Amino acid sequence: MRDVIIIGSGPAGYTAGIYTARAGLKPLLIASSVEAGGELMKTTEVENFPGFPEGLQGPELMANFQAQAERFGTEILLDDVVEVDLKGDVKIVKTGGGETFEAKTVILATGAAYRELGLPREKELSGHGVSWCATCDGFFFREKTIAVVGGGDSAMEEASFLTRFASKVHLIHRRDTFKASKIMQDRALANPKIEVIYNSEIAELHGDAKLESVTLRNTVDGSTSELALDGLFIAVGNDPRVWLVENQIELTAEKFIQVEGRSSKTSLPGVFACGDVIDPTYRQAITAAGSGCVAALDAEHYLANH
Ligand code: NAP
Repeated sequence: MRDVIIIGSGPAGYTAGIYTARAGLKPLLIASSVEAGGELMKTTEVENFPGFPEGLQGPELMANFQAQAERFGTEILLDDVVEVDLKGDVKIVKTGGGETFEAKTVILATGAAYRELGLPREKELSGHGVSWCATCDGFFFREKTIAVVGGGDSAMEEASFLTRFASKVHLIHRRDTFKASKIMQDRALANPKIEVIYNSEIAELHGDAKLESVTLRNTVDGSTSELALDGLFIAVGNDPRVWLVENQIELTAEKFIQVEGRSSKTSLPGVFACGDVIDPTYRQAITAAGSGCVAALDAEHYLANH
């Protein structure tokens, strides 16, 4: 039986790997078969991860995380976890490749998936004008015309943040009232660079190598119009990846894994959670990495006491 199995290979998972490996716990990190490296694999330049003053590409940063975890003996398996039973003292983890593992502790670092609009060219233009992260990519849109789609707090926050860079920010929302809190709405609506396009959804994305324009569809009368854009930020919510554990572990009202205070302790003894799967608020690579460190230390203490 293993001491630690880590599920997930973003900054939280790899940091948990680095710490538990250095503690001599020989962790097994199950990284996924196609999505290893997590959300940062979809990002281009990362300029805000401390320690890299010149910035680096998202995939390069994740390769560094992986190399550092492996250097101390983290075993990495490129497979998908398809089933877990975490209730007993012996935790059972099954993979799509047909393997079954047993462990004394499990660290859940399965992340969150940004919700997509579901448009045909969305994936192809991701990183080429279409983004899900204003903090990561806003800097590339200095003096450009961009749009944010969404009507929640994230959309308000991103639109307000992006006015630091862009000359114009269209805020596209499918209804005529916002879901966002009043204070966030008021801040966005008071900003002279932000212009709201109500009752509209994006029907099509256009551009060859990068986004150039979108087709808008009016949700009331169905009419369409074209809007030229250099960038589009999609902020229509995100979903923590909890399907593996949702029937056996406590979740928050927003469906994130519930943890105790500032720790990574879940409702099940010996099961710890970290990164975006517990974080409805900050969702940064650096906060996820810090959270992975917390989970590793919590798992280490648990093993020492059991
Ligand atoms: P959210 O509250 O779920 O809002 C999602 C928004 O996107 C809604 O306005 C929704 O429209 C719209 N939407 C969903 N699917 C869409 C689609 N396919 N096409 C077009 N529009 C779509 O998500 P969020 O804004 O990411 O916020 C998530 C949580 O984090 C919330 O609890 C929020 O309060 C919190 N948060 C807090 C802060 C802060 O306080 N600083 C900042 C960010 C987030 P409808 O309104 O029509 O449903």
